[in-house]
Amino acid sequence: MSKKGIIAIISGFSGAGKGTVVGELTKKYGYAVSVSATTRKPREGEEEGKSYFFKTKEEFEQMIEADELIEYARYVDNYYGTPKAYVMEQINNGKDVLLEIEMQGALKVKEKFPEVSLIFITTPSVKELRRRLEKRGTEGAEVIDKRLARAKEECDYMESYDYIVENAGLEECVASLHGLLQAIHFSQSNQKELTEKIRKDFDQYQ
Ligand code: 5GP
Repeated sequence: MSKKGIIAIISGFSGAGKGTVVGELTKKYGYAVSVSATTRKPREGEEEGKSYFFKTKEEFEQMIEADELIEYARYVDNYYGTPKAYVMEQINNGKDVLLEIEMQGALKVKEKFPEVSLIFITTPSVKELRRRLEKRGTEGAEVIDKRLARAKEECDYMESYDYIVENAGLEECVASLHGLLQAIHFSQSNQKELTEKIRKDFDQYQ
């Protein structure tokens, strides 16, 4: 295994169950999860510093100015961004970090750091997506329609992702993701240290 942790981005349509899946991955397997900053208002039950760092627009724009974010994006009328310090600290301590972020941000991170893995989670169907959004009951009909419209746009970019995982059931999806994340450690971009060591060994051999 590489000594440094990996960064994996988990995106997916709003309502695809990313939050639940990421929560389970942390609980079951100890992955670190980046807590984002947002200008969105807290939903019932969301906690400052756990769900998000809730910011005003002015505070968020200050974070952009001070270069404190790895990436940020506007999503359905609000800003969302990933604070840099926590992610760097975790990977340097050998922990794998999951970033649950939307597509624009994900593609920006991939451009800056090509070794980051992009994982996309989808429901088995659009009908199921709407059902889950309605069941969540946290947004009104207008926001649900906006989120579905956004999902339709995002569908065109699914192929920019390295991995696509269907969320037909929580347990199976979490197990697939854990297997995938473990396998990513062995990708050539995460095995550079070992490759270099073997090359040096050969240079010194004989
Ligand atoms: P929600 O309002 O449902 O919590 O999140 C809306 C969308 O913003 C989701 O697709 C979520 O993955 C995304 N999101 C959350 N945090 C970040 C972030 O730090 N950066 C970006 N680019 N997207 C984020």
